[in-house]
Formats: sequence, C-alpha cells, structure tokens
Amino acid sequence: MPSFVISEKCDGCKGQDKTACQYICPNDLMVLDTETMKAYNQEPDACWECYSCVKICPQQAIEVRGYADFVPLGASLIPLKSTDSIMWTVKFRNGKIKRFKFATHTLPEGSVEPYKGLPDVSDEDLKNENLLNEKGKDLSNPSA
Ligand code: SF4
Ligand code: SF4
Repeated sequence: MPSFVISEKCDGCKGQDKTACQYICPNDLMVLDTETMKAYNQEPDACWECYSCVKICPQQAIEVRGYADFVPLGASLIPLKSTDSIMWTVKFRNGKIKRFKFATHTLPEGSVEPYKGLPDVSDEDLKNENLLNEKGKDLSNPSA
C-alpha cells in the first residue's frame, strides 16, 4: 500500500528547503510542487511502503492507500504519531473504522546500553571470526 499526500492537509512544510517527506524517503519519491506548495509521491508503484513519510509528516497529510486489485477502493490506513505511541486508523470501504495503538518506546530515549555486559574488544579479537558474545569460543571445533 503506497503513500499518497492529501493535498488539502499538506502545507509544503511551510516552505522549508527540503520537506520532511522528501528528507525521509529512502527512495527519493516525494516531490514538492513549488507552485502549489504541495508534495506528492511521484511514483507510487516504486514505493517501498516503509511508511517513514507517513509517520514524519507534521500535518498528518500522508495516508496509505491500497492498490485496487487487493484492497477495495476507498479503504485507507492513517497513522497518528504522539511522543510515545502511534495510532493506526484503518478505514474500510463500508465505512467501518478500526484503531490500533502501539507504543513506540518501551524505554526512555537514550537509556539503552547496547554493549552492557559484553567483554571489551582487543585488536586480536578482530582477527578471528567470533562474534562479540562468542569471545573465547573455538569455532574451528564446533563440538568442543
Ligand atoms: S511532510 Fe507532510 S506537510 Fe510536509 S510537504 Fe510532505 S506531505 Fe506536505
Ligand atoms: S512509504 Fe517510504 S518509500 Fe514510500 S514514499 Fe513514503 S518514505 Fe518513500
């Protein structure tokens, strides 16, 4: 389901040099029409469907729509991001709406210590094939 810009909601990121959706798209699909100051996805069928643009848009102006062949026309998926969660609103063609809310952080930002509990690394360690948590193992003899 590629992303589409709802032009009524898009404010062109208030004329910034690079809009949020242009900045975030890994496939450079978002384009700003400098006359209308509205962004659009220039090639929906090349969309990676990563939803980064959907989540970053400060105006909630980007929604996700299905291709007509497997999702009924009129259905949509709209995210609403807050500081610690994201709410997905699923709208079905018959008007039925479902909402799902997920936490985006379970720990305070910046509090994760990825190397905690792992041994220090020496230059010698870089010459063998062991992963960091396999330090000291003899991988040439798996049964040992
Ligand atoms: S991030 Fe949103 S408001 Fe900004 S240009 Fe893109 S669609 Fe428009
Ligand atoms: S969903 Fe991802 S790949 Fe598709 S336009 Fe948005 S940022 Fe680009």
